[in-house]
Amino acid sequence: MEASKSSYFSGNRQTFAVAPQVWGLKTIFVNLFFIAEPDGTWVLVDAGVPGCTHKIKKAAEELFGEGARPKAIVLTHGHFDHIGGVKELADEWDVPVYAHPLELPYLTGRSSYPPPDSSVGGGGMAYMAFAYPKKPINITNHVELLSPDGAVPGLTGWHWIHTPGHTPGHVSLFREEDRVLIVGDAFTTRDAESAIAVMTEKREVHGPPAYFTPDWAAAHRSVDALASLNPEIAASGHGMPMRGEELSRGLENLVKNFWVIAVPTKGRYVHEPAVADERGVISVPPQVGSSVPKLMAIAGALTLAGFAYSAINRRSKQNSHLKQDRPLPHNRVASGLPPTVDPDYDDPTAHTNNYP
Ligand SMILES: [Zn+2]
Ligand SMILES: [Zn+2]
Repeated sequence: MEASKSSYFSGNRQTFAVAPQVWGLKTIFVNLFFIAEPDGTWVLVDAGVPGCTHKIKKAAEELFGEGARPKAIVLTHGHFDHIGGVKELADEWDVPVYAHPLELPYLTGRSSYPPPDSSVGGGGMAYMAFAYPKKPINITNHVELLSPDGAVPGLTGWHWIHTPGHTPGHVSLFREEDRVLIVGDAFTTRDAESAIAVMTEKREVHGPPAYFTPDWAAAHRSVDALASLNPEIAASGHGMPMRGEELSRGLENLVKNFWVIAVPTKGRYVHEPAVADERGVISVPPQVGSSVPKLMAIAGALTLAGFAYSAINRRSKQNSHLKQDRPLPHNRVASGLPPTVDPDYDDPTAHTNNYP
């Protein structure tokens, strides 16, 4: 049976109940989760948007009492809207932060995520995506690797599942006993691209937020893997929890029609993924323009400029190492080490300038 929206909210608390011993907290447009053990210890999953530390601590105290402190923080992934409070909280609580090895470059200042694709999605959230911070944070002092056996530190009865696609080291958490799934952003329960859906909280199973998803084939496999767990309750990073029939029907539809309903019709990563490994991003596909005539005009101007340039510099060009022969239809391999960013130097363009 479908639970009404109001039944999700627990009294006067800011949190909403997801399942026994599991609560969610919404920070602006992103959820984070508190998961407790029978002995009263608990773990924080994700850390909200920047500036929400006080709200998280207050919610924790409402749930677990004054001065409450978790055993650990587990990150589904390192996007800015899921790690906003992580540094401050990990410092203050002095707890480890667990993440998948493939997510580590983005949590230790080593690599930026692939540039977001604001040409996809079509909604206000996607168009605003260019303004979101993409720079990696550096929590080297706190970060620990999730163990390959699937155990979730501090939580018995739960295991993590690698669900890449939205990010390389994205994980979801599953409690076998009552089939409760903390999804992260592997799929969402509302249209993450629509600013209206953000406000109205309409519940519906959707794909991962398109503007930050650089590997759609992997994202599809991940949704398939999560659907095959047959979750009874799913709580995503974006949207309200869904359960039962409504959830299983929505998931089945998403798996079956993923390339129609989740994958954008055009965009930077639609035909080729960004490639990453444990060092960070290795290559990204070329950027796609928003309109063909505009692109052609730019290409034409570049061609003319290229002719003029080569006529003037024909001889000196032979000795140069200009990258003019880069094969356009293929991923552009970053030369040398993956792009790195000094996390203490706040240059808002640094993260995207690392890419061709
Ligand atoms: Zn995300
Ligand atoms: Zn998110």
